[in-house]
Amino acid sequence: MGQLNAGIVPVTPFQQNCTILFDMDDKHGVVVDPGGDIDKVLAVLKDNAIIAEAIWITHGHIDHAGGAMELKEALGVEIIGPHEADKPLLDNLENQGRRYGIAGARDCVPDRFLSEGDTVSFGSHVFEVLHCPGHAPGHVVYYNRAAKFAHVGDVLFRGSVGRTDLPGGDHAALIASIKDKLLPLGDDIGFICGHGPGGRFGEERRTNPFLT
Ligand SMILES: [Zn+2]
Ligand SMILES: [Zn+2]
Repeated sequence: MGQLNAGIVPVTPFQQNCTILFDMDDKHGVVVDPGGDIDKVLAVLKDNAIIAEAIWITHGHIDHAGGAMELKEALGVEIIGPHEADKPLLDNLENQGRRYGIAGARDCVPDRFLSEGDTVSFGSHVFEVLHCPGHAPGHVVYYNRAAKFAHVGDVLFRGSVGRTDLPGGDHAALIASIKDKLLPLGDDIGFICGHGPGGRFGEERRTNPFLT
């Protein structure tokens, strides 16, 4: 098995980090959170000869899931995740698109919802699913124990945390998700998040003003 690698394609006016996770050797991988700008995502896959086997969704917000159906049709792959608690959000993406001026956003129907303790994988890269509500009720985090890596979506950011003023948001639940599920994985876990630069859990545990 090759090393796990990640490439980021900023999508939508929200500059969301659509993330391509792939194996360095065989170039098979997955696309996490294709919120929009699918032409751009497809071009990056093609230019780098990456074969996407699935689409993984962290949560049902438009900047993360609005382009998932278009990408699914273009690639002929399944949409996996998030947790079923985000179904009301996924069913409302066209409306959200109109509201936020994001053309082409479509309601998202995953092929499979995920629950705490599930695993998802491509090749030999296995990711544990952590249900981390707070920013969105059905938010999931994808954690690769072997690579000491997590894709945390909009749960945690470098120096900040996800907003909780949107429908279904719950600040206490968000902080509990971070403190009880993410930080115990270890200070050396590297993360990619939905917006802005990633980091390491240890740095957030020590310096993130929302956690100290
Ligand atoms: Zn979000
Ligand atoms: Zn977002």
